[in-house]
Amino acid sequence: MAALSQLLPDPAFSPSTSLMEITTRPDILFVSGRGSWLTDHAGKRYLDFVQGWAVNCLGHCSPVVTGALVYQASKLINCSPAFYNEPMMRLADKLAVHSGLDKVFFANSGAEANEGAIKLARKWGATRKNGANGIITLEHGFHGRTLACMAASGKPQWETLFPPKVEGFTKVPLNDMAAIEAAITDNTVAVMIEPIQGEAGVFSATDRYLKELRALTASRGVLLILDEVQTGVGRTGKMFAFQPAGIQPDIMTLGKGLGGGVPLAALLARDEVCCFEAGDQGGTFNGNPLMTAVGCAVVDEISKPAFLRTVDERSIQLAGGLRRLSVKYDLGEVRGRGLLLALELPKANAVKVVERARDMGLLINAPRPNALRFMPALNINAGEVERGLAILDRVLAEMA
Ligand SMILES: *Cc1c(COP(=O)(O)O)cnc(C)c1O
Repeated sequence: MAALSQLLPDPAFSPSTSLMEITTRPDILFVSGRGSWLTDHAGKRYLDFVQGWAVNCLGHCSPVVTGALVYQASKLINCSPAFYNEPMMRLADKLAVHSGLDKVFFANSGAEANEGAIKLARKWGATRKNGANGIITLEHGFHGRTLACMAASGKPQWETLFPPKVEGFTKVPLNDMAAIEAAITDNTVAVMIEPIQGEAGVFSATDRYLKELRALTASRGVLLILDEVQTGVGRTGKMFAFQPAGIQPDIMTLGKGLGGGVPLAALLARDEVCCFEAGDQGGTFNGNPLMTAVGCAVVDEISKPAFLRTVDERSIQLAGGLRRLSVKYDLGEVRGRGLLLALELPKANAVKVVERARDMGLLINAPRPNALRFMPALNINAGEVERGLAILDRVLAEMA
């Protein structure tokens, strides 16, 4: 009997009191995951349309990710960023080829990559543009939780947190060219934006805006930094979200999906911008072979010819289903690209919808009180998309 009880999940658990309080977690303990599914401590299964916040682009415990991890873990885990390692070089070459940018610096989180982008732009301003250091960013933008990234972000709730603030960021509204034009001064070194504001509630920069912004920044001698931490590596149905606009940034950051679930981020830049000198930038874990080996496997998988076509198909299916639900229950717009979608709600009850959906076995996210966000695995199948839509239909029916 003892053997059997060890196999059965324990339905009761008490959360550890040793964890520092940073968020309110539901009383669920996740113990395993496979593809689009998570299993909790009581054996209940959940269809996951959050995927670690758009991180597990190939789903939970994809053989692509675990295979690369297991292989590399038995070969070489860390030899210090002061030495070359094979996966680090391979991934840098892959990212350079796919993005058209020249150089890559690896980091462990999106915020760290963005911090690097801000430092690189400031160094460029200091050495190439008479000490210019001002960076224009967007209202409601999100760039991470370090002090500089919080200052760069446009979250109203962060305005007065953790003073004194890192200086040098001017905020303008999204898709407003005139505002950016007016904000650029001799002290401006860069404009830094997300192609789609994910945390803000999935609001896209239009392709036209990106094109005009590229032209404006180029003509004014200002760097264009794209934060593709959430949108990059296939999330929008393209390898990078800037591609449909036919532009190229001077600096780009990647994170989230790049590691398929493991901590891996990158800062990419054009040759002319790469002005770091020895000692300016670094980090103990940066470019370690264990994480970069996973990055290589993820990028290889996503760049297979059929992969992004399937993302488009699932995107059309999910967006179409959400639009039907919106009509059925008199809700708001469906927005976003690829598998980064949001559904606007007429009431500020998104958190309630999220909780009810979770009870019924579907994980979704509420980036704002009146919006639901959907960021399933990029390799989710058609049946799983239908299943998610069916659960959401039941939740909405019950709440209507
Ligand atoms: C998540 C996110 C970040 C921060 O990434 P972390 O890995 O959490 O530091 C930065 N920018 C964007 C656009 C993001 O979505």
